[in-house]
Amino acid sequence: MLTFDNRFLKELPGDPDSSNQLRQVFHACWSRVKPTPVSAPKLLAWSDEMRQALDLSEADLQSPEWVNALSGNGLLPGMEPYAMCYGGHQFGHWAGQLGDGRAISLGEVVNRQGQRWELQLKGAGVTPYSRMADGRAVLRSSLREFLCSEAMHHLGIPTTRALSLVQTGDFVIRDMFYNGNPQAEKGAIVCRVSPSFTRFGNFEIFAMREDKATLQQLVDFTIRRDFPELADYPEQERLAEWFAIVCSRTAHLVAQWMRVGFVHGVMNTDNMSILGLTIDYGPYGWVDNFDPSWTPNTTDAAGRRYCFGRQPDIARWNLERLAQALYTLQPEREIYDEGLMLFDQTYNRQWAGILAAKFGLGQWRDEHEALVNEVFDLMFHAEVDMTEFFRQLAEIEQDNPNLETLRSAFYSEALWQTFKPRFELWLQQYAGWLKQGGQTDAARKLAMNRVNPRYVLRNYLAQQAIDLANQGDTSLVEELLQVLRKPYEVQAGKEHLAGLRPDWARHKAGCSMLSCSS
Ligand code: AMP
Ligand code: MG
Repeated sequence: MLTFDNRFLKELPGDPDSSNQLRQVFHACWSRVKPTPVSAPKLLAWSDEMRQALDLSEADLQSPEWVNALSGNGLLPGMEPYAMCYGGHQFGHWAGQLGDGRAISLGEVVNRQGQRWELQLKGAGVTPYSRMADGRAVLRSSLREFLCSEAMHHLGIPTTRALSLVQTGDFVIRDMFYNGNPQAEKGAIVCRVSPSFTRFGNFEIFAMREDKATLQQLVDFTIRRDFPELADYPEQERLAEWFAIVCSRTAHLVAQWMRVGFVHGVMNTDNMSILGLTIDYGPYGWVDNFDPSWTPNTTDAAGRRYCFGRQPDIARWNLERLAQALYTLQPEREIYDEGLMLFDQTYNRQWAGILAAKFGLGQWRDEHEALVNEVFDLMFHAEVDMTEFFRQLAEIEQDNPNLETLRSAFYSEALWQTFKPRFELWLQQYAGWLKQGGQTDAARKLAMNRVNPRYVLRNYLAQQAIDLANQGDTSLVEELLQVLRKPYEVQAGKEHLAGLRPDWARHKAGCSMLSCSS
C-alpha cells in the first residue's frame, strides 16, 4: 500500500467544476478529471530504480491493479486524479491558458524514506485543458520520453523520471509532419514521476490574468512544499531568495544539457520546471556532428529559436518571463535583476568548469578559451561527432599526441583529409596545455571519462527502438535502458550503441528531424 498525501489538491484552490468539458479555468490551480479508460493495456517496460523508489515490488507493478492504474483504467486507494492549470510563452509569444491537456496527475506518493513523488500519466485522455487535441500520446513519443528521462537521470542531469511505459491497445491519429498524411499509430502512456510538475507557466497564467491572490497562494505553496530550505527565511526576503535559487538551478540544468549535447527542442515557458528539472520530452535530440545551430525540432527549423547553442540564452529569457510574473506580487526590480545576474554568473562558472573537465585541463584559465573556441569551430566545419570526439580526446598521450586517435569521430573522409592539418596544429597546442596541467595521462583519462559519456540516447537509436516496439519487440528498449544506466562506462559487447550515427540515419525522420506531433 502506498501512502498518498496530495498536497497540491489539499493546499491550493481548485476548480469547483469537475465535468470533463473544455473551458477556461479561473482562480484555480487544478481541475479534477478522471483518466479515460483504454481497451487493452500492456505494460511494455518500467524503470527498476523508480519502482524501488516507490517501494513497489515487481509483482506489484505487474499486478492487474497497477497496470490498470498506469493505463488510466483504474485508481488505487489514495489516488485523486487532476490536471493542472498553466499558461506559457510559446516560441516567444504569450499563448494564454494551456494546462495539462493530456497529463493527469494521480497524486503524491510519500515513500518509506519520506520522499515525495508525484505520479502523472501522460496520454491518459482529454482534460478541461485539451483544447483541440485528443489527450492521447503515441508509442513513438512515449517511448522517447520514457527512455530519455531515465537516461538523463543516469547521466547525472536533473530530470523528471519515468516509472512505466504502457501500450494502450488503441490507435491514435497523427499527421507526423503536418503535411496531410495522417496515420493511425499505436497509443501509449508514460507514468512520469517527479517531486513537482510545476512549471514557470503555472505562475505566469495568474499574473497575466491579474489574479494576484491565486498567484500568491501558488508561490507560498511552492516554497513550502518544494523549497523547504526557505521555511525559516525572513518573509520579506523569501521571494527574492527563491527566485535566485530558481535562476541558479536553471543555469545548472542548461549547463548540463550543453555538456552532453542534449537539445530540448521546445523550451517554451510551460516546459520549464520550477525545480530546474528537464521536463516534457518532445522533439528533443542529441547532437551528433557538433553544430550549435542544430535543432531536432522541424517546427523550429526556420527560426532555430531552440537550437543547441541558444539554450542558455533561452533559459534566461524564460526566467525573465517568470520574473515578470512575480513582479506583479513584489514590484522591486532589483530582486529580479539580481536573480538574473546570478543566472549569468552560475552558468558562466559552471560552463567554464565543464569545459575544463571535458578537455581534461584541470583548472579553467582564461587562456583556455581560445583553444576551446578554435576546436569547436573546427569540429563544426569538419562535422566531428561530439560524443565520440571527447571520448577519443581522453586517449591522447600528452608526450606523443597522435591525430589518428581522433579519426573515428569524423563522419566524412573528405572533411577528415581537408581539416587534418588544422587539427594537427590544434592537437600540438592542446598537448602543450595538458603538460602544463600536470596530470598523468591515466588520471586525466579517468577524469574526462566521468564527464564525457560513452553512451547517449542518439536519435537514431531511439528511432530503432521505436520501429521494433511498433512491431511488438521491446528488446532494444530493454537493452538501451540497461546500457544507459552506466553511460560513462565502456560496456563489453555494446559497441553498436556507442558509435557514430550511421549514414542512413542522417536525414531520416525520427533520426535527425522530429516534429512536435506526439
Ligand atoms: P507541448 O508542446 O507538448 O509541451 O504541449 C503544449 C500544450 O499542448 C500542453 O498544454 C499540452 O498539454 C497540450 N497538448 C499537447 N498534445 C496534446 C494532446 N494530444 N492532447 C491534448 N493536449 C495536448
Ligand atoms: Mg509541455
